[in-house]
Amino acid sequence: MAVDFPLSDTVRRIKPSATIAAATKAKELREAGHDVLSFTLGEPDFTTPEHICQAAKRAMDEGHTHYTPAGGTPKLRSAIAARYTADTGVEVTGAEVVVSNGAKHSVHNALTALCGPGDEVLIPTPYWVSYSDLVAITGATPVMIPTTLESGFQLQPEQLAEAITSRTKLLMLNSPCNPTGVVYPPALLRELAEVAVERDLFLLSDEIYGKLVYDEAEFASVGQFGEAVRERTVVVDGVSKAYAMTGWRIGWTICSPVLAKAMEKLQSQETSCPSSISQAAAMAAVSGPQECVATMREEFAKRRRFVLDRLTAFDGVSMSTPDGAFYAFFDVSSFFNRPLGGGRTVADATEFCTALLEAEQVALVTGDAFGAPGCVRMSYATGLDTLSEGLDRLERFLGLK
Ligand code: PMP
Ligand code: GLU
Repeated sequence: MAVDFPLSDTVRRIKPSATIAAATKAKELREAGHDVLSFTLGEPDFTTPEHICQAAKRAMDEGHTHYTPAGGTPKLRSAIAARYTADTGVEVTGAEVVVSNGAKHSVHNALTALCGPGDEVLIPTPYWVSYSDLVAITGATPVMIPTTLESGFQLQPEQLAEAITSRTKLLMLNSPCNPTGVVYPPALLRELAEVAVERDLFLLSDEIYGKLVYDEAEFASVGQFGEAVRERTVVVDGVSKAYAMTGWRIGWTICSPVLAKAMEKLQSQETSCPSSISQAAAMAAVSGPQECVATMREEFAKRRRFVLDRLTAFDGVSMSTPDGAFYAFFDVSSFFNRPLGGGRTVADATEFCTALLEAEQVALVTGDAFGAPGCVRMSYATGLDTLSEGLDRLERFLGLK
């Protein structure tokens, strides 16, 4: 007899990660012999730089294979603080850093330490798929603030002020943004942070793509906007994107030592500590030579130019210029309800992605998952040949060639 699992409210409240689900589906099709080109996952295709892998091997050889303090080794926490100070000019110490099992875990820790039932958390849309569910896990309510393609997908201070209620606890910011690639101008980011502080909110600033900005775009950390902002801000970052280390699972938060202690306590009960070997690798990443970051960024910049040139030439596709991260996020709603590749018609972005996968074996992620109906996301963290072939297939699907 099948067992009936009375699943918890928490688990029933959330959905599986749409990015991971789309990537898994594409992988399964490939393994079944289909010629699928996947642009689903936000994951650099580069291998982790050699000096970082060597540091991990050394850690194993030297016996660093045990639990570490819950919030990470003091050495790594200090090295992360030093990296942040070198990058931003803001003095921080290891006591403000908590190292976790990936930046997703860091977001989870920060939200769990600060939010719970009855609280509202503001999330500008389009937003990274996991934010709403990570908020929902805490029992707090995610409240979306829509931004549009026309407004350059940038939240405005008046919009923020209007969305705040007596229950609002925290604002989530993400610049450069996944999925739009938008890099907030520092002045606008500062204004938003100041509204949040005036209205007594906490800020979670997810800066994981901070090292991946292109052309003239300028990255600013929310922690740079003065003490009043900094004491209410949790900066989230990690090694996954900038150092091509998604599988090592190391992320961190930088925030007031009081909050850091609370998150460390949480982590001591949740996971004991992040992997000791991955911490050694992350130590080499943040304190070793940084040329590898520039080399990968240059490669991303070439791919970005290529993808932008192709997509902006597609009649009917509209997009804002992504100045950071490694995603193209574009509006395909003008193609709804008219014949596409193989005579298919689609009514929304989710159907668009399904039809594109069936007709041309090209996998994108639907904008519906990012709170942006009508749009789709293409990750360009993959080789130029694959991008070129994928865009040819997309062009054919759209009936443009
Ligand atoms: N924040 C954003 C905006 C992301 O795109 C990702 C990608 N997974 C993360 C956080 C989490 O990164 P990590 O792999 O370190 O968990
Ligand atoms: N952040 C990446 C993405 O958006 C990796 C997958 C995930 O964790 O969502 O594709």
